[in-house]
Amino acid sequence: MNPIVIIGSGLAGYGLLRELNQRHCPHPRLLITADGGESYYKPALSSALGQKKTPADLAMAQSSTMAQELNAEILTHTRVTGIDPANHRLTLASGETRPYGKLVLALGSSPIRLPLTGDGANDVLSVNNLDDYTRFRERLTHARKVAIIGPGLIGSEFANDLLQSQRDVTIIGPDPWPISTLIPQTAGEAVRQAMAAKGAVWHLETFNGAIEKTAPGYRTTLKNGTVVEADLVLSAVGIRPEIQLATQAGLKTQRGIVTDALLQTSDPDIYAVGDCAEVEGRNLPFVQPLMIGIRALASTLMGQPREVRYPAMPVAIKTTLHPIITLPPQTKEGNWTFDGTPATGILGRFIDPNGKLAGFVLTGSRTPEKTMLMQALAA
Ligand SMILES: Cc1cc2nc3c(=O)[nH]c(=O)nc-3n(C[C@H](O)[C@H](O)[C@H](O)COP(=O)(O)OP(=O)(O)OC[C@H]3O[C@@H](n4cnc5c(N)ncnc54)[C@H](O)[C@@H]3O)c2cc1C
Repeated sequence: MNPIVIIGSGLAGYGLLRELNQRHCPHPRLLITADGGESYYKPALSSALGQKKTPADLAMAQSSTMAQELNAEILTHTRVTGIDPANHRLTLASGETRPYGKLVLALGSSPIRLPLTGDGANDVLSVNNLDDYTRFRERLTHARKVAIIGPGLIGSEFANDLLQSQRDVTIIGPDPWPISTLIPQTAGEAVRQAMAAKGAVWHLETFNGAIEKTAPGYRTTLKNGTVVEADLVLSAVGIRPEIQLATQAGLKTQRGIVTDALLQTSDPDIYAVGDCAEVEGRNLPFVQPLMIGIRALASTLMGQPREVRYPAMPVAIKTTLHPIITLPPQTKEGNWTFDGTPATGILGRFIDPNGKLAGFVLTGSRTPEKTMLMQALAA
């Protein structure tokens, strides 16, 4: 019997393996991963510094333990370079090939790299996995001043974490306000003020893309003429689903690897789950949709097809200096109304043209009101 092969050892890949094991899946399982295969909780990468957790602390289990516990073969540091759907075979970077019965792509997403210029551009770090985080922590040992390019969710969380560990933080970006793709300006302003009160310097709508090396570190001159000096530059300008392998194999891809509600790709024996998947037109790179996906997929792979159905899924943003919970509206038709103040906390409701609650944002002291808003939404 050819195995179920899962590519990727992130929360999606290991989560699916765990589900299959718990359900006593009779098929052999093989997981292949390009990285070291440590089991870790990726969202912790942007809050570990303040909690004084080292990269080793974040790795909850090594791949050998995972293989034993989950009754699977695991190949680490092994990149899959090709999929041959007609013959149900994978090609590995070594040139070796492996057969599969069903294949699951849990390939995650990669950080978007801006086309930066200047002789310091190649030293700019992104943190999207444990290896990146290890490099980041090594470079931080000698860094006091950190510049973050990208005031989105991940950039703001790293800024929050660095502030907690007494670094001087400057956040730069083309965005009009922090986390602007997920929260309205009033809420973004509350976060900006809370971090500024702890020393963060924000330069929004003014990045010009050049990073120069200086004797002590790096320098970028913004469009408005401001010069920012830093010992370390972090880029957090967004992520892009990992689709290259699927595209090369002839699978249908758009923003992500296109699947139906069963997480089945355009090939009936290949599935996609987690950050790399675009499920019925939606790419949702967060933990909750991924957990819903792996449970449904485990059932499907064991012969009981189960479609993914997403409830309303608020996103909690770990800016602990001013925490946020948001349920971005799925429509532009409507208006925001706000209660509260940026200094303490904001409650924002997005009301659609029928007068119904269609999204919300809670910041600071107002975050405990999530349950009430979820109930209002359900009603
Ligand atoms: C700093 C940070 C903070 C976050 N905070 C939150 C949060 O608070 N809440 C939340 O809901 N979400 C958060 N997220 C998002 C969340 O972590 C991701 O949605 C989730 O971890 C994605 O898991 P995944 O398994 O799909 O992908 P990944 O964890 O990226 O795993 C992809 C795997 O695929 C492997 N791979 C890729 N290509 C190949 C190949 N060709 N061959 C072999 N292996 C391959 C990789 O090595 C890796 O093991 C955060 C993300 C980051 C980066």
